[in-house]
Amino acid sequence: MTESFSADVHLGEIANLEDLIDRESLREVCRSFFDLFGLSIRVFSARGGLLANVHEERSVCRYANVFAEGRTTCAATVGEVQVIVPDTETVVHPCFTGALYHVLPIVYDDRQLGRIVLGPFVPAELKEPPESLLRIDPDVDHERARLAIREMPRVRPETAERIAAHLRGVLDLILFSGHRAHLTSAMHLATVRENYRDLAEKNARLQEAYDKLKELDRLKSNFLATVSHELRTPLTSIIGYSEMLQAGIAGELSDEQGGFVDTIRGKGELLLVLISSLLDLNKLERGQLTIEPEVVDPRAVLAEVQETYLPEAEKKQIRFEIDCPTDVPELHADPVRLRQILINLAGNAIKFTPERGSITRRATRGEITLDQGEADEQDGLGAALMMAPEPAIEFRVTDTGIGIASDQLQKIFDAFYQVDGSSTREYGGAGLGLAITKNLVEAHHGTIRVESREGGGTTFFVTLPQLPLEAE
Ligand code: ADP
Repeated sequence: MTESFSADVHLGEIANLEDLIDRESLREVCRSFFDLFGLSIRVFSARGGLLANVHEERSVCRYANVFAEGRTTCAATVGEVQVIVPDTETVVHPCFTGALYHVLPIVYDDRQLGRIVLGPFVPAELKEPPESLLRIDPDVDHERARLAIREMPRVRPETAERIAAHLRGVLDLILFSGHRAHLTSAMHLATVRENYRDLAEKNARLQEAYDKLKELDRLKSNFLATVSHELRTPLTSIIGYSEMLQAGIAGELSDEQGGFVDTIRGKGELLLVLISSLLDLNKLERGQLTIEPEVVDPRAVLAEVQETYLPEAEKKQIRFEIDCPTDVPELHADPVRLRQILINLAGNAIKFTPERGSITRRATRGEITLDQGEADEQDGLGAALMMAPEPAIEFRVTDTGIGIASDQLQKIFDAFYQVDGSSTREYGGAGLGLAITKNLVEAHHGTIRVESREGGGTTFFVTLPQLPLEAE
């Protein structure tokens, strides 16, 4: 880092005045010097490019140019001046008119970047036209030549040196600020390049990880589907044979034997529920589970849930109530899946509510705004922006149970997540119920949320569109 920075602080690969200087500022400076001292200024780059040129045709040049020989000699002088490359010191070049040119080197960071040509001007002491001017043509008039010389800017050698030093100082400043701007933009570019490289690398790593995860997910899904399927068949037999044993088909069972068979059947059924849940979740996540909506009476579904759990609620002396006002209309939903949603929520409510608590399942009219993605699919973006809320039915399952800490509220919808995930946990289950419930709700284009306080009970809110969606 230090190495590349210090290399950058020097000019590095910049060797041209053109790359470093702002031409407009350079012209401005030359113009103000011309206005101040009346001296013509030309700035050349090291490659000979003319970067600034502020001059006026001078009286003596004008007069010399009247004569053919004057024109030729003038052009030759200008040509000579243009190719002078001063080393570190100013080079003074005389003109046949008696005027002088000063050629100053432009050196920055120990590099020859170009040169400045000052002049023509005449030395202060020159009063009479020199022989070299008078000789260019027999018609040269001494008096006119003298007048032309008089009109020329006159500068003493020390003044010319001071002007040159001053000009060099200003130029140094312009070069410095150009250099700084160049460094800043080079550093900015390097940072952007570095960031871009970083980002591209991270992106590639992310893509790799994503591909691996996707492949793993696919393998997991296949594995789950196969294993669950293979387990279900023998399990159904185990349950079937337990039922036959219970019915006495294989002979009367002793009390102890009956107890064992009850346990085999009970555990078998639990396993079957778990396997069905895994299969359901797998299908839901792959979008393979189809919803078959029909007109459903929310009261009837709530009553079915009541029937399922009433014995268990009574066992725990839990008040288990339904609250469904008469004006709550029927809705369009898959009755089997809606029952599954409410059974999952009510089952959790019973599981996590201590004895003598209470649980209410409520259905009310509500509203739902379909999310933009769904709306886009149906009607296009314009319609989505003006989307009015749709009528909906809101189901609530409220309990007075153990509640959920606020930092756990979003995690409980993840598959296999349990607030108490320890092996010694008090409550049964595999952590799949809410993941399945959420997927089922979303398959209905509905929403699910939870409000809860640790020790203060829980309410799950499920909102489902009341009417069939246009796409269906
Ligand atoms: P399971 O009930 O099989 O553990 P769920 O996915 O249904 O799995 O629930 C995940 C977790 O969310 C539960 O283990 C429990 O910690 C918490 N939870 C769900 N419902 C309730 C509730 N009504 N009261 C308290 N905690 C709950």
